[in-house]
Amino acid sequence: YYIATLLAVLTQHFVVLSFIPTESKYIVLQAFALIPSVVVGAATHHIIYTLVVEYYQKQLFKNRVREQRKQQIILEKLVKEKTADLEEANEKLKRLSFLDSMTGLHNRRYFDTELVNTWKSHGRSQQPLSLIICDIDCFKQYNDKYGHPAGDECLIAVAQAMQNETRRPSDIAARIGGEEFGILLADTGAEGAVQVAENIRQAIARLAIEHAASRVKNIVTASFGVATMIPDQINRPESLVLLADEALYRSKHSGRDRIRAADKTSLPLAADSSADRTGNDEFSGLSPLRLAYVTK
Ligand code: GH3
Ligand code: MG
Ligand code: MG
Repeated sequence: YYIATLLAVLTQHFVVLSFIPTESKYIVLQAFALIPSVVVGAATHHIIYTLVVEYYQKQLFKNRVREQRKQQIILEKLVKEKTADLEEANEKLKRLSFLDSMTGLHNRRYFDTELVNTWKSHGRSQQPLSLIICDIDCFKQYNDKYGHPAGDECLIAVAQAMQNETRRPSDIAARIGGEEFGILLADTGAEGAVQVAENIRQAIARLAIEHAASRVKNIVTASFGVATMIPDQINRPESLVLLADEALYRSKHSGRDRIRAADKTSLPLAADSSADRTGNDEFSGLSPLRLAYVTK
């Protein structure tokens, strides 16, 4: 740009000067001297102007990028906070959806899910898994005599006692029916499970909730069925429930307020003075299900 300007100016000088008389040359030269300075000045101004404009444009762009980044960080933070809130709310909702709203114990849905999960994990570890099913005795009569709200209070108290007696983190106490509870005991043999059932039975007795209409005692009592299995390929999680249910049935039919275990080799059963202790509960005619019993 400079060189082109310079050449143009010089050419103009020589062409114009060759036609001018010598005495006037000085004045003309003076006039022409202005041209390069104006041109060079304009060019310099143009270059400086371009550089300055470029510089400010760059600064402007940088500022915009910086501002956008700031906004983006604020937005990301906000999204993160909202996501955390949402996750917390979801977690809370999930926890609530697994709880029985009346007693605060786990609900049937959670029980069913965990039964399958623990069944699978115990199948892998080949450890015994126990289930206690507990059913309050003569509860219909309790409701009839004391009213439904009192019945609810009774269920809450029994559930609390149950919760207090199942303290291991892996213990799962759930309300699986109206006045029926299921307690899953991981890595627990029949002996241990019967002991837990007995602890619960005694804890319910200690509550000493009056039940004048009961056919068992004048306080609220419960019956228990205990089953223990090591999960295998033949059986399914429902087998454990079936066994415990069957044991509970026997408990009801042999007088209530007692524990029956599906495992014939388990401890002598507490609170039971009936002939069952002598082995009358032994199964005859073993079904494939019964063959799978665990005698730990
Ligand atoms: P059994 O000793 O054989 O178990 O007799 P039961 O009367 O306890 O058993 P039954 O199945 O005949 O009656 C259960 C009663 O439990 C009937 C029902 O009204 C009551 N019940 C179930 N759910 C609730 C509840 O949420 N609140 C109250 N108050 N009562 C309930
Ligand atoms: Mg009942
Ligand atoms: Mg029942």
